[in-house]
Amino acid sequence: MNVVAIYEPIAGAEATVHARAWCEVDLDAVRHNLAQLRAAAGVPLIPMVKADAYGLGANAIVRLCTQFTNDEAPWALGVATVDEGTDVRKAGWSGRILCCSPVLPAEHTRMCEERITPALHTEADILSWRRLGERPWHLSIDTGMNRAGVAWNEAHTLADVVSFHPPEGVFTHFHSAGDNESSRSLQEQRFADALHTLALPASTLRHAANSPALAADAERRARPMWDLARPGIALYGSPSSSALQLSPVLHVFARVVDVRNVATGETVSYDATWTASRESRIATVAIGHGDGYRRAFSNRGIMQLRGQPVPVVGVVTMDMTMIDVTSVPCEVGDVVTVLGAPHNRRNADGAEHLSIDALAELAQLSPYELLVGWRLRLPRVYRSAT
Ligand SMILES: *Cc1c(COP(=O)(O)O)cnc(C)c1O
Repeated sequence: MNVVAIYEPIAGAEATVHARAWCEVDLDAVRHNLAQLRAAAGVPLIPMVKADAYGLGANAIVRLCTQFTNDEAPWALGVATVDEGTDVRKAGWSGRILCCSPVLPAEHTRMCEERITPALHTEADILSWRRLGERPWHLSIDTGMNRAGVAWNEAHTLADVVSFHPPEGVFTHFHSAGDNESSRSLQEQRFADALHTLALPASTLRHAANSPALAADAERRARPMWDLARPGIALYGSPSSSALQLSPVLHVFARVVDVRNVATGETVSYDATWTASRESRIATVAIGHGDGYRRAFSNRGIMQLRGQPVPVVGVVTMDMTMIDVTSVPCEVGDVVTVLGAPHNRRNADGAEHLSIDALAELAQLSPYELLVGWRLRLPRVYRSAT
C-alpha cells in the first residue's frame, strides 16, 4: 500500500513522498462536507465509501467516519462489493454496512460473517439470504436506471415474500437528479407507487437521494424526501454547489523535472500534436496517465505554477506531461498544482482553484472518473488539523 502518512502532517519537502507527484487528501474538508450534507439532507446519511472512497483511500475516510458520536454519525457506510465491506470492517467501522450493488448468492455467507447488509431484489435471493438467519436486508427498486433492482412496475411480484421477510430499508437510485427535475419526479412517483404496492411496514427506511439530488434540493431549498440519503461524490468535494458549500478534498501536485527552450516550429510529445509558434519555455512535469492524469488533458489541461495557470502542451505521456511556461518563471524542482489548490494558498484571495468539476469539463471527462482514476503510483498524504 502506498498510503504514507495517515493523519500525519506533511513532512519536509525533501521527504521522498514529495519527490515526484502526490495526492493530498484533506480530511477536515471531508468532515466539513459530511456536516454540510447532513444538515442539508435533514436525515441520517449513508456515506458511500465504495471504490476505495472514490479513489481517495477508504481506510482514512472510514476511520474519520468512526469519530462521530452525535447525531451526525453516519447511519451506515455504503459499498459496492463484499470485499469493500470487509475492508470497511478492517478499518474499524463496527456499524452498519450496506452493499448497494447486487452480489451473487454465493457471497451471502461471507456477508453474514462480516455483518454486511445486502441489497436484494429477487425472491430467490431474499429466500437465500433469510435461510442464513433473521438478518437485515434492503430492497432495491429500479425506477428508470435499468441497472439493478426490481422494476417498479413488477414490485407486486415480491409482495408475498416481502410480507413474510420484511426488509429493513427500501431504496431506488436516480439517473439524472442533478440536471433533470422532471425525470427525478417521475422516478420518485414510481418509487412511491412501488412502496404503495408492497404495503411495507411504516418503519421501513426509505432512501433515494445521491449527491446530485442533495445538491439540487439544497439549491431549491427543498426538503429531501425519504428517511436516509446516500451521498458519494459530494463528500469528496463535487459538485460545486453554492448552497452546499462543499470544500475541495483532493489536491494533486507534481514536480517540474526538466525545463528547456523550444524553438519556433519544434513539436512537443508523441504524435507531434503541438508546434511552438514562438520561442517557448517548456517544462516537463513528473505526472502522466500512468498516475491517472488522463490523456484527455493533452493540449487541453491547465496546471498551476506560482499561482498562474499554465497550459498543457502536446500529448500527456505515461510518466510525464509538458506545460508551456514561457510567461512564468520556472525551475526544476518547482511544485505544480495539477488539481485543487496549492497549499498555503488554499483559501487565499485570488488563488485559482482547479476544481474537479472545472478540470473534468476542460477534458470532457466525468468528475467521477477523474476522481476515481488516480493511480496508486501517486502516494497519498492525509492532512488533518484535528
Ligand atoms: C454510487 C452510488 C451512490 C452515490 O452516488 P453519488 O452520485 O456519488 O452521490 C448512491 N447510491 C448508489 C446505489 C450508488 O451506487
